[in-house]
Amino acid sequence: MAAYQKKLEGFSGNIRVRMAPSPTGALHIGTARTTLFNWLFARSKGGTFILRIEDTDKERSRPEYEKNILDGLHWLGLDWDEGPDIGGEYGPYRQSERTQLYKEHIEKLLQDKKAYFCFCPKETLEAQKQDAESRGEVWRYPGTCRDLSESEIKQNQKDKKHSVIRIKMPNKKLSFKDIIKGESSFDLSLFGDIVIAKSTEEPLYNFAVVVDDHEMQISHIIRGEDHYSNTPKQMVIYEALGWQPPEFAHLPLILGQDKSKLSKRHGTTTSIDDYKNQGYLPEALINFIVLLGWHASGDREIFTINDLQQEFSLERVQKTGAVFNAEKLDWLNNNFLKQKPIQEIVEFLLPFFMREGINLGKFESTYVQKAILASMEKTKGVNEIIKMSEIFFRETEYEKELLIWKESTEEITKDKLEKSLDALRLFDEITFNKESYEQKLKEIYGEDKGSVLWPLRVALSGRKVSPGPLEIIEVKGVNSSTMCIEKAIAKLEK
Ligand code: GLU
Repeated sequence: MAAYQKKLEGFSGNIRVRMAPSPTGALHIGTARTTLFNWLFARSKGGTFILRIEDTDKERSRPEYEKNILDGLHWLGLDWDEGPDIGGEYGPYRQSERTQLYKEHIEKLLQDKKAYFCFCPKETLEAQKQDAESRGEVWRYPGTCRDLSESEIKQNQKDKKHSVIRIKMPNKKLSFKDIIKGESSFDLSLFGDIVIAKSTEEPLYNFAVVVDDHEMQISHIIRGEDHYSNTPKQMVIYEALGWQPPEFAHLPLILGQDKSKLSKRHGTTTSIDDYKNQGYLPEALINFIVLLGWHASGDREIFTINDLQQEFSLERVQKTGAVFNAEKLDWLNNNFLKQKPIQEIVEFLLPFFMREGINLGKFESTYVQKAILASMEKTKGVNEIIKMSEIFFRETEYEKELLIWKESTEEITKDKLEKSLDALRLFDEITFNKESYEQKLKEIYGEDKGSVLWPLRVALSGRKVSPGPLEIIEVKGVNSSTMCIEKAIAKLEK
């Protein structure tokens, strides 16, 4: 059995995990993935899932981003047991409302001489940094203010010298076992004494996160690999405060197709809002996101959120980066969309048609349903469905040249269309059926299928790409299709 399972078995406390987004932007796919993994871990283990808003960065945090994140997570079908909107025993759940708590702990560290005020001017530190870089070395704070006397500190404060608070970094190696990445070892001396707060009332991320995770009794921290190198720094803070750190699990980075970290450069949409606006279903996104770094034991790839609560385990999270494959998302979306009853599909697509200026309300509902079903056959994304089905809802203009198949001529095309039309006239709205009509068409086209089916497709759709001509007739009906073919013949007569 994997070490992780053993560890969990040995874990005696309650499972409490958290997602701690910073409201500095709209809900990002990476944030959604970390939330989902935490949520699944909690739900599959009967644990508690907490949402905490990390808004210590006052300049960049915005209430509208917080709202966007909460709304987006709800839209995906994720909920939480404690959070800023619903409260809970360990609140408040916004860091901006917890200043007093951080202050007490920072003061304690200062008192215990585990942290200290640093008055070094920014310019001095900047010059040191540049100097180190010019020698190809990595700069770290040299500890200039580590041992200032009480009176020196008081004097500097009286002189209103700008200061920050640094923690004393022990000069040792630190090791821990990450549930996903395994044995991890860091040389703490390489970090130097890091800044943990701008003042006793302005903690920085690494400090506030430790206080909150401890106070909220978080048992497992599951987060992105971009925070991996913060973990040893946070462990030093746990140690300084005399606290036991939780377990850590760092999820692999999300990579673009070229295997570099997913970024704007890849042209990939990363905002959940954008996916929603492009017609992706929450079910499809959940399925897609969970596969970014996790896989089930067999080959199975399609999961509902309920299936995942049974199947998910951190044990199956991979160490290496997870490659983002947009085609897979389209495939999943189509899959989930097709499983829905047609009325639901139509309802879902209504606003997307509206956006294209098509009001489905003007058409009879069975017609709309048939049109959409026919258009969904070969399409992937919602946009393709709309494009494909447009032919059923508005006139499409085309040039007569489009009617002509390969080496064929206007005369041959006209002749084939007239024959196809004669064959169609043998049917009416009730008696038409695809198979019998196809039989008649075969007699017309013989060896050269395209010479008939191509002009018929263009006559009925005005497009190169469309549902099959016979499927179009099934939807449009014989009368309307007859008119389309007549129109095409007339074009060729001109
Ligand atoms: N507020 C951090 C972020 O948004 C969360 C880090 C953590 O999970 O510890 O990246």
